[in-house]
Amino acid sequence: MSYSACYDETLGFTTRQLHAGYDPAEHNRAKTAPVYQTAVFELGSYERGLRLFEYAEEGHSYVRFSNPTNTVLEKRISSLEGGSAAVSFASGMAGISSTILNLAKAGDEIVSIKTLYGGSTTLFEKLLPDYGIHTRFVEHENDPEEYRALINEKTKAVYVESLGNPGINIVDLEAVAAVAHEYGVPVVVDNTFATPYLFRPFEHGADIVCYSATKFLAGHGTTIAGLVVEKGDFNWRSGRFPQFDKYYADNVEFMGEEVLSRELFTKRLRQTYLTDLGAHMSPTSAFLLMQGIETLSLRMRQHVKNAQDVAEFLEAHPAVKQVNYPGLKNSPYYDLSQKYFPEGPGAILSIRVNGGLEGAKKVVNNVKLFDYMVNVGDAKSLIVHSASTTHYGQSKEMQEAAGVYEDTLRLSIGIEDTEDLINDLRQALES
Ligand code: PLP
Repeated sequence: MSYSACYDETLGFTTRQLHAGYDPAEHNRAKTAPVYQTAVFELGSYERGLRLFEYAEEGHSYVRFSNPTNTVLEKRISSLEGGSAAVSFASGMAGISSTILNLAKAGDEIVSIKTLYGGSTTLFEKLLPDYGIHTRFVEHENDPEEYRALINEKTKAVYVESLGNPGINIVDLEAVAAVAHEYGVPVVVDNTFATPYLFRPFEHGADIVCYSATKFLAGHGTTIAGLVVEKGDFNWRSGRFPQFDKYYADNVEFMGEEVLSRELFTKRLRQTYLTDLGAHMSPTSAFLLMQGIETLSLRMRQHVKNAQDVAEFLEAHPAVKQVNYPGLKNSPYYDLSQKYFPEGPGAILSIRVNGGLEGAKKVVNNVKLFDYMVNVGDAKSLIVHSASTTHYGQSKEMQEAAGVYEDTLRLSIGIEDTEDLINDLRQALES
C-alpha cells in the first residue's frame, strides 16, 4: 500500500513540509526518511547498469549523482516551492554557481541586481569573468526598462534575490520577469531570505529558484546545503541555449522524447554540473535539512513576528539612524512587501547606527543574546558588521550599492521571546 499523503499536492504547506515526497513503502516503512550512508549502489545486472548510465532508467548508482535520502528532500522542496524538480548541492554557492554555468558559457552574459549576497557578487564580478561570463548590473532594481536595455542575444539569465542583502530591498518580480520573458530569458531567484513559506517566486514569474538551505530551511545552524528548483515550463530549446539543444540530441535516443520534454534544465544540471564538478550534498545533510523543514512554517511565523517588533523598536530608538525592513510603513519597499509578502517580509533587517564605525563596534561588542556571526536564518538571533565581514573586500561602490556602510549592522532575528531580544538590543545601544 502506498502512502498517498506524500503525493498529494492539494495538502496545505505545513502538511507537505512533513510528508511531501516520502513514501515509507519505498524505504522499509521507516517513519523518517533514512540516511543512506553509502557511497555506491549495487547495479543489479549488466542491463540495468547500462540503463542507469544512459539515464534510460531512474535509480541510484553512485552517491555523487544521487541518493535516496536526497531524492526525498528534492521532492519535498519541489512540492513546497510549486516546482517540478530539484537538485541538492553541498552549499548554496555550489548550487548558484552550477546554475549559472548550466545557463551560460564563455561569451555569454547575465543581467543582475547589485544588492546580492557578497559571495554571489564576488562570483559574478571576479570569478565568472575569468571564464568569459560577464554580468551587467542594473542600477535601479525596480525599473524594468533598465533590464530591457541590458538584455541582448548573449543574455542567458536575469538574476535577482527576492529579499536583497543587507538592505532587504524587494524586486518587483512580476514586472522584471515580464521583460525577461519577452526575450526568452529565464529568471533566476535566490529566495534564501524568504523561504517558500513566505514567498514562492514561481507564482510571480521566476523559472529557477536557488537556496542557501544553510539558512532558514535548515533553521538550526547545523548544515551547509544548497538547493536549486526548476519550475518546469520554460522553453529551453528556443535557440537561445545551444547547450540544451545538444544535450537533447545526445540523450533523446536513450531517455526518450517524453522524458526530455520535462525539466531539461534540471537533468543537465545534475548530469553535467553536479556529476562533473562534484559538489553533492551528503545524505546526512539532507536528513538534517528535512528535520529543519518539518517546522519551517512554524518557525517563520515567529521569525517574522519578532522581526516586525524589533524593527519598530529600533526605528524609535535615538541611537539608530536608519532601519531597513520592508514591514515598516515608511520603507520604500512597504507597498511591494504588502503585495509579495503578506505573511511578513522575512526576519533579516539592517540598521545604521549613530557614531560611525565606533558606534557599530560598540553594539556588536555589547550584545549578550545576539551572536556575532556571519550566518543568517538560525533559530537563534544573530548580528554582523557587514563591511568588515560578509561584504569585506568589495569595492566601496559595490558595498554602498548594496547598502553597506561602516555603520551598517545586519540582524537576523530568531525565534526567542521578543522582549528578550528588544532588551538585549536596548542595553547594547545604550551601553
Ligand atoms: N545566498 C544568500 C542570500 C546567502 O545569504 C548565502 C550565504 O550566506 C548564500 C547564497 C550562499 O550560501 P552557502 O553559504 O550555503 O554557500
